[in-house]
Amino acid sequence: MSRPDLLARLAAAQADRAQAALLRRLRTVDAVDGTDIVVAGRRLTGFASNDYLGLAGHPELVEALATAARRWGVGAGAAHLLGGHREEHAALEEALARWTGRARALLFSTGYMANLGVLQAVLARGDLCVQDKLNHACLIDGAHLAGAVLRRYPHADVAAAQRQLDTAPAAPALVASDGVFSMDGDVAPLPALADLCRTHGASLMIDDAHGLGVLGPEGAGSLAEAGLDEAAAPILMATLGKALGVAGAFVAGPAALIEGLVQFARPHVYTTAMPPALAAATRVAVRLAREESWRRQHLAALIAQFRLGAAQRGLALAASRTPIQPVLVGASDAALAAAQALEAAGFFVPAIRPPTVPAGSGRLRVTLSAAHRQSDVERLLDALARVLR
Ligand SMILES: *Cc1c(COP(=O)(O)O)cnc(C)c1O
Repeated sequence: MSRPDLLARLAAAQADRAQAALLRRLRTVDAVDGTDIVVAGRRLTGFASNDYLGLAGHPELVEALATAARRWGVGAGAAHLLGGHREEHAALEEALARWTGRARALLFSTGYMANLGVLQAVLARGDLCVQDKLNHACLIDGAHLAGAVLRRYPHADVAAAQRQLDTAPAAPALVASDGVFSMDGDVAPLPALADLCRTHGASLMIDDAHGLGVLGPEGAGSLAEAGLDEAAAPILMATLGKALGVAGAFVAGPAALIEGLVQFARPHVYTTAMPPALAAATRVAVRLAREESWRRQHLAALIAQFRLGAAQRGLALAASRTPIQPVLVGASDAALAAAQALEAAGFFVPAIRPPTVPAGSGRLRVTLSAAHRQSDVERLLDALARVLR
């Protein structure tokens, strides 16, 4: 018997993807200038970034990063528990806890690792983990890593979530949902999920990667907007690489949660601490995100402008009030062709295809930023109307 070759199998899977217009392509960006990027020698207006507040290139962040690097060096050199945890990390954790109204916060190197860490630490083998079908991949992976029984419910369907909880009424249970859905832009039914958890003895975890900085008072996120405190939603996770324009993530909640994660979250324990200079830059980003509410106001105006203009041009939008404004196309090859036509017209808007989104729901994922001008949005709308006609 001959053993199948793993790399040959991988190549065959890739060929299948290409056949189905599902191949993903790595593009190298040669330069960045605000929301513009230069790709393959062409300048494109980007509508693809998660830099919703326009902070990623902010001079104050750059300065804070450089200053902290001169003081601390570049790498943390060790895991948090083994000497890598610096004053900059501690100060950022305090700032994030204060902002989100939680007792404590704990940094992770990426959002992906934060979600793996929380689920693996909180859930034991055989526990119940109930999740929205459109949750981010790392929440799904975290439930698998924990060995939990993963039960998914149709998008935003709280009655279905209840039925999933009722399948194992005595099992320890976690309900996990994106706060803002990454490919659809809609906000989870947070008060109803919190009620469900309260009445069914489950814990609620919200991944607010796309809500922090954008929603709620001072941009404190989707839970703050919904008025859900730490008692109602004890596990809040959010990333630092989206509206805050840096990289990394944190989990915020009661002290018992954070202490438990320090002990048991393997993606926190067994990994190098984020560079202290990134923590320093992020602290500046948190201050700007809280104080400069004009960024959220301008963003809201752009969102309204985009939705009105899209309706006037007969474009199919999702029910989203956030900077994530997908334009629904359907077939994967049509979504890809539309993205290519937009690129030819000077715009960078990625086509999102399965398995990132369900089959038949290919789309252009348009994201808006406070760094865009109204004229950018108007030009994009005209190009979309031409390309999708
Ligand atoms: C981006 C994202 C993550 C992962 O965060 P990274 O810091 O990029 O690893 C997790 N959850 C959601 C909902 C996201 O959109």
